[in-house]
Amino acid sequence: MPDSIKLQDKGPTLQGSMAQVAELFKAHKSFSIELWPARTEIAQRKLDQSLVEFASLNPSFVSITYGAAGSTREKTHELVVRIKNETSMVPMAHLTCASQTKKELIDILQRYKQAGIDNILAIHGDPPLNSDSNLEEGELRHAIELVELARSIGGFNIAVAAHPEGHPSSNDIKMDRFYLTQKLKRADFGITQFFFDKKLYLDLLEDLDNLGVKKPVLPGIMPITRLSAIYKMAQLSGTEVPHSLRSRLEKVQDKPDEIRRIGIEVATQLAQDLLDESVPGLHFYTMNDAWVTKEIFSNLGLAR
Ligand SMILES: Cc1cc2nc3c(=O)[nH]c(=O)nc-3n(C[C@H](O)[C@H](O)[C@H](O)COP(=O)(O)OP(=O)(O)OC[C@H]3O[C@@H](n4cnc5c(N)ncnc54)[C@H](O)[C@@H]3O)c2cc1C
Repeated sequence: MPDSIKLQDKGPTLQGSMAQVAELFKAHKSFSIELWPARTEIAQRKLDQSLVEFASLNPSFVSITYGAAGSTREKTHELVVRIKNETSMVPMAHLTCASQTKKELIDILQRYKQAGIDNILAIHGDPPLNSDSNLEEGELRHAIELVELARSIGGFNIAVAAHPEGHPSSNDIKMDRFYLTQKLKRADFGITQFFFDKKLYLDLLEDLDNLGVKKPVLPGIMPITRLSAIYKMAQLSGTEVPHSLRSRLEKVQDKPDEIRRIGIEVATQLAQDLLDESVPGLHFYTMNDAWVTKEIFSNLGLAR
């Protein structure tokens, strides 16, 4: 790593009050991570060990994914509450509006409030999902409506998803940006889908700025750890894997250690380039891999 990378002075962690969150972003010191709930007993045992490792990184907050199709819904609640009660980390619960009734969503939000969870990432949800076309009157169609629902209950810090390359289901980037501005205006901040080219993130910020929205948007960084997984996720989320990176990875496709080494190097470089642009912080998609995340934090001088 270049000598110029110094130990970053990290700020406080995300707390309930919006003023503290805003301070964290203003200081460009929000370093957060995403985890997902374990689906099997073996994965659970691994996650139990990894939580200690992740906590040692002192992340600003930790967001927990939600299986929109129903697979891990209850497990998300369990992990979010467990992180709050049993670790030093501050959790943020992902919640999707797809495939759930408004009443179910109100119940989930109320349950989080009762458990003292006040950070929510309000999103639509990944496919496979029930079709939105036959939604009944009053049910939620887009993430913005979930933001409004959480606001109407009150007391939540609300983040939303942003897509630097446009949402894959949208064939009109201008309209996609417009809908994003409407959503961000009602939310507290955004977190982007992963991307590999810094310019895509900077273009998104410029577009938002031109549309009069200055809410903080954290860039999401996905370290490549497995070739097949990254191609699948890139296809699902509409993320372009640059040709030069593809050919570098494909030259070592039978060498998992080399793929991970390149993944860590590429993620570190992107993260450092973004820090040089004075971003409000960085959000890492960890895929529960504490080792890879620790390497990147260490390269960036964020590990204590
Ligand atoms: C940080 C992050 C975390 C994520 N976590 C999860 C997770 O835990 N579980 C999961 O299942 N998925 C997750 N996803 C994926 C996400 O659910 C998908 O990308 C989903 O397809 C879109 O979600 P959204 O919240 O951006 O949707 P929306 O904001 O609802 O947008 C979806 C599409 O609808 C369009 N649109 C929005 N508003 C309107 C409107 N008023 N009228 C017409 N069109 C409109 C948009 O342009 C876009 O094309 C995550 C994504 C990100 C970036």
